[in-house]
Amino acid sequence: MDLLVIGGGFAGVWSAAAAAKVRKETGSKLDITLIAPGDDLVIRPRLYEADPARMRVPLNRILEPIGVRHVKATVTGLDVAGGLVTAADRDGGRQRLGYERLVLAAGSRLRPAGVPGAERIHDVDTIESAARLDEHLRGLPEGPGRLTAVVVGAGFTGLEVATELVGRLAAHSTGPADRPRVVLVELADEVGPDLGAGPRSVIVSALERLGIEVRLGQSIASVEPGLVSFTDGDQIAADTVVWTAGMQASPLTAEVPGRRDRLGRLYVNEHLQVPEAPEILAAGDTAAAVAEPGQLVLQSCQHAIPLGKFAGHNAAADLLGLPLAPFAPAPYATCVDLGAAGAVLTSGWERTVQSTGEVAKKRKITTNRERIYPPLDDAEEIMRVADYRVGVRPPGARI
Ligand SMILES: Cc1cc2nc3c(=O)[nH]c(=O)nc-3n(C[C@H](O)[C@H](O)[C@H](O)COP(=O)(O)OP(=O)(O)OC[C@H]3O[C@@H](n4cnc5c(N)ncnc54)[C@H](O)[C@@H]3O)c2cc1C
Repeated sequence: MDLLVIGGGFAGVWSAAAAAKVRKETGSKLDITLIAPGDDLVIRPRLYEADPARMRVPLNRILEPIGVRHVKATVTGLDVAGGLVTAADRDGGRQRLGYERLVLAAGSRLRPAGVPGAERIHDVDTIESAARLDEHLRGLPEGPGRLTAVVVGAGFTGLEVATELVGRLAAHSTGPADRPRVVLVELADEVGPDLGAGPRSVIVSALERLGIEVRLGQSIASVEPGLVSFTDGDQIAADTVVWTAGMQASPLTAEVPGRRDRLGRLYVNEHLQVPEAPEILAAGDTAAAVAEPGQLVLQSCQHAIPLGKFAGHNAAADLLGLPLAPFAPAPYATCVDLGAAGAVLTSGWERTVQSTGEVAKKRKITTNRERIYPPLDDAEEIMRVADYRVGVRPPGARI
């Protein structure tokens, strides 16, 4: 029996581990294969930090101990009727893999900027692009825009990038007169439009405290070397532009019959199966799953991890004729990093502020540096944590 997982992010890794747990507990013969082009699980939530190239853990230290095969390739097509995927490896070699159950966990990507000069715009969407930004910051050219950065999008990622950039640019200052300038541009008429009113006053105070200039109701119109033009016609000298606006689910979602939401995510049932093709389950940023009545999951690590665990469990259980588990993630909470101004931790879908400043920052650091990392090398521990009933890893657990 073949269970194929597409994607080596949080959702894919936890799908494979949860399926391996079912296999072990039932003593069944189940071939579990994870297909992803890279060698690593990329810790995407940390890519706004300095030195992003280290934000990864080797997939083989998770998959090998639990007996999951890793095929290093990119899926280029799905044949849903035939139960086949087509994939290409780095050398251009092609292969076809069959499946009886498929977990689609190919994640999401940032929508391209689409303005003149887009090739000069940075992002922190992938480990490669975040590393390019880091390298750019280390080698800023002399000139009036050297320490000026424009961040486009004041959503979750844009806020984290902008607040962190203040410190990252300051590290390259040559003296008190050479101060960083960060400009945050947002098309909506308020910061954090999707975060709601709950944390907004904390966020606005943090932006003020860090001296971040906010330009609402506009975007950038073009980027030339050292110069950024805004849609209101204004221009400023800036050597760094970071685009954070707009995520889209993997294009592979379009190859699965079914309904998709505006982010391109597949609507799934309570067992994370695509109703029109129940042998396919979606997890992570490809899934529009119901988190709680009236609330869909967010494209977030917080949801990708439990989505992966439930999808892997259910794909294996379905193959083995065992009962499936209805998706039930932990209560929603979110923590936005605000750089040197701390962080803001909220709970519930109204995002009621629970803590701010250093207290929330400690929680963010624990989450980013400990809780979201999977255990390595230890099959028993990996499968223990892969249980869909187990939340994120407890703080302080060994990485
Ligand atoms: C800068 C930044 C900050 C963030 N901060 C937070 C945060 O604070 N809290 C939070 O909860 N979330 C945060 N997120 C969101 C979170 O990182 C994502 O929601 C999460 O990574 C989604 O996990 P995933 O496994 O679904 O997809 P991904 O992490 O996107 O992984 C997808 C995997 O699929 C592979 N893949 C893609 N296409 C193919 C293909 N065709 N064939 C084979 N493999 C393929 C990729 O190589 C990768 O291994 C942040 C994201 C970013 C970029």
